[in-house]
Amino acid sequence: RAKSEGKNRYKIYTAQMSERTVDALLMENDLRRALEQDEFILFYQPQVHLRTGKIIGLEALIRWQHKTKGVISPLDFIPLAEETGLIEEVGAWVLAHACERFHHWLKQGLSLGKVAVNLSARQFRQAHFAETVVEALNKSKLPPQYLELEITESLTMQDTDEVLQTLGYLNKLGLSIAIDDFGTGYSSLSYLKKFPVNKLKIDRTFIHDVGSELDDGAIAKSIIDLAHNMSMLVVAEGVERLGQSRWLYDQGCDQVQGYYFCKPLSENELLKLLYSEKVFRDSNGDCFIV
Ligand code: C2E
Ligand code: MG
Ligand code: MG
Ligand code: MG
Repeated sequence: RAKSEGKNRYKIYTAQMSERTVDALLMENDLRRALEQDEFILFYQPQVHLRTGKIIGLEALIRWQHKTKGVISPLDFIPLAEETGLIEEVGAWVLAHACERFHHWLKQGLSLGKVAVNLSARQFRQAHFAETVVEALNKSKLPPQYLELEITESLTMQDTDEVLQTLGYLNKLGLSIAIDDFGTGYSSLSYLKKFPVNKLKIDRTFIHDVGSELDDGAIAKSIIDLAHNMSMLVVAEGVERLGQSRWLYDQGCDQVQGYYFCKPLSENELLKLLYSEKVFRDSNGDCFIV
């Protein structure tokens, strides 16, 4: 198309293309170097049990602590890691590190529920993915029931038999499977019957306006009911206000995660919080208010 729009246009087009390619190449090299030099860190965001206000899970979220550029968000490097295949190595690091840390905290006597790790579709579909998980568990000595894997709906639409087999194997090991960003994936719901799914994470776009005059919460409520009708747990993502939390409590949502309760924390910040034995509830006892 660029070519048909004239010679000059073609030149501009290719110049932009190669600039993008150069950027991507530089970043790819930078990612490799970061892996070698251990520049990744994990933050942890608490998941809170609404009935008791207790922390019952931690979602591990990767950050790149770049030597010169500062902290880089996963949104800015996970896509490239996926394109280049480096996600396999990055993902293995995340699994190993999350399991090792979590086991360490359990040994210290902290009661923490589960640790949830995000998986990209490409990582999941790599040849020896299940072995990577088993290795992370074995090396860390973390019992499988403490590990939760977050996958996306898009994965459930790809190579279904293989995905099903891997999920079945992992589920038999005793770890649990959560569907991240649920409701945004344009996928059919039939996979929920076929796949061993333990938990739905309601995408934060469906949580944004609940409990306010802008929204009657029909989608969020439907997801909560869907999960419970199928014996799954349900967690709301992106809870930023008390009103949302109250609404979710009234609808019977099991768990919440979001800035209203706690932002993702560094390891030091997390330990401070855990040792304070903070419970997210109000003075009436059975509530959920900080
Ligand atoms: P996600 O798995 O859906 O994670 C939730 C994201 O929402 C996190 O962003 C978290 O910081 C943010 N968040 C939490 N509470 C709130 C809230 O109340 N309001 C709003 N607006 N946002 C909130 P983060 O850490 O930047 O991660 C972004 C995405 O990057 C994640 O979305 C996940 O898809 C991906 N990601 C993060 N770590 C990993 C990883 O280790 N491996 C892979 N493959 N992907 C990862
Ligand atoms: Mg997630
Ligand atoms: Mg999510
Ligand atoms: Mg998300």
